[in-house]
Amino acid sequence: MKRKGILAVVSGFSGAGKGTLMKALLETYGEQYALSISATTRKPRPGEEEGKDYFFVSKERFQQMIQEDALIEHACYVGNYYGTPKEYVTRQMEAGRDVILEIEIQGAFKVKEIFPDALLLFVTPPSAAELERRLRGRKTETEEVIRDRLRRAFEEAKYMEQYDYLLINDDLKTCVQEMNQLIQAQHLRTGSSREWILGMKEELESL
Ligand code: ADP
Ligand code: 5GP
Repeated sequence: MKRKGILAVVSGFSGAGKGTLMKALLETYGEQYALSISATTRKPRPGEEEGKDYFFVSKERFQQMIQEDALIEHACYVGNYYGTPKEYVTRQMEAGRDVILEIEIQGAFKVKEIFPDALLLFVTPPSAAELERRLRGRKTETEEVIRDRLRRAFEEAKYMEQYDYLLINDDLKTCVQEMNQLIQAQHLRTGSSREWILGMKEELESL
């Protein structure tokens, strides 16, 4: 039986290290994974590339994508819109790749409603002080945006327990390994093997 891809949702506080983790995961286990590229109305940060980090779109284009039903989910996060393009995700899963959505919590819960077998992972640094250090250390946001994102982290922390697993990103390498193990173990869950189970039942019936 051809194995379909898993849908893994990765959320976590801004500055937790999600982007860094994704990069390391793809460098280490590239073949198996496809990282979904979101559309956003946020302006690119220095170094970010169109079509690689995000599809940077206008508010009008974003609205159009919603109307065309081209997004699996979308959400507003600290003043900007973000959404997951549908076509890429379904195509990669059909091709057997495990697709990772690095999205915030509202989007994560919407995805879980649409794909009940999706795996929900929450990434956090080992402490709040370390979160602040990483967010400031990145030097990509203004003081005002940093304060907004730290406040947002406090709000998001209320939902951590609703995720399937908590990944503490202390040592990057360890965290990447844990993430890979959790996603690969998800393939062995009965929910991810419905088609195989159906086939097995039919074969047993015809014996
Ligand atoms: P996010 O995508 O979650 O907002 P980033 O990947 O941009 O976070 O990481 C925020 C900052 O923390 C970056 O400067 C990154 O280099 C650093 N960082 C990420 N993971 C670790 C780690 N395990 N240990 C120390 N610093 C880290
Ligand atoms: P950033 O501006 O730091 O790149 O992202 C801000 C937040 O938006 C992060 O928590 C990120 O995971 C989330 N995000 C990125 N893309 C999407 C998306 O397509 N949908 C949703 N719901 N959130 C997203």
